[in-house]
Amino acid sequence: MLVTVEGIVIGRRSIGETSCFIDVLTDEYGVIEAVAHGVKKLTSRNAGSVNLFSYSKFCFSKTGLRYTLNSAEPKYSFHGISTDLEYLALAAYFAEVIKFSSASEQEAGGFLRFMAITLYELDKKRCPLEYIKSVFELYISVLLGFTPDLRACCVCGRYEHEKMFFDYDDACIVCGECIDDYEYQQHDIFALPPGLLYAMRYIIYSPVDKIYKADISEEDLRVLSGITEKYLLKQLDRNFKSLDYYKSVKL
Ligand SMILES: [Zn+2]
Repeated sequence: MLVTVEGIVIGRRSIGETSCFIDVLTDEYGVIEAVAHGVKKLTSRNAGSVNLFSYSKFCFSKTGLRYTLNSAEPKYSFHGISTDLEYLALAAYFAEVIKFSSASEQEAGGFLRFMAITLYELDKKRCPLEYIKSVFELYISVLLGFTPDLRACCVCGRYEHEKMFFDYDDACIVCGECIDDYEYQQHDIFALPPGLLYAMRYIIYSPVDKIYKADISEEDLRVLSGITEKYLLKQLDRNFKSLDYYKSVKL
């Protein structure tokens, strides 16, 4: 059976001298692992379409659950990412999170577009790297069904208060009036600066093509990065080697 599908190469491993396994993120089939014969040869017509983080249109032969690449046409290449080790390391972390959290042979609606928009931001280098990391961590939580409820205080319904607290365990916010009597005092709770709550609301409740445009101060960004990372890892209940690597190469 032939399968034609658009996707982004989010993983690549060598098989011998000339071939590779590629992991391709698609909307229709989640992450597909396919054998790409001969793509490391200089003469291969598919070589440019199967590079890491290439967005291409693929034609696979499918036998049972095994995919083999027949042909591929490049649609977009995020060249800027591979020229900088920090950017490449962060993209590798994003790829590992997506690979871990999307099941194969199952639709992964929204992931492909989100990854393409994220890689585009990394490629263009318009925003601080830590900001892209935070937005990714928060928005992927939303796509995975772990949307924190930041609409209003979960006790009294207040939308704004000079002091708001984020409850990591219940993924909600509690205002300064309610926090002293909050019945889950033993939960992991963090005081959110007002600008940060605003930025997190913007990222969660905006259309995906707007999420990288939140307005946030440098000071709030440092705090945001810690919050979004902790929140995502807590939901997935694991750490990622690629995240440790990113931190080791970050300037
Ligand atoms: Zn309240």
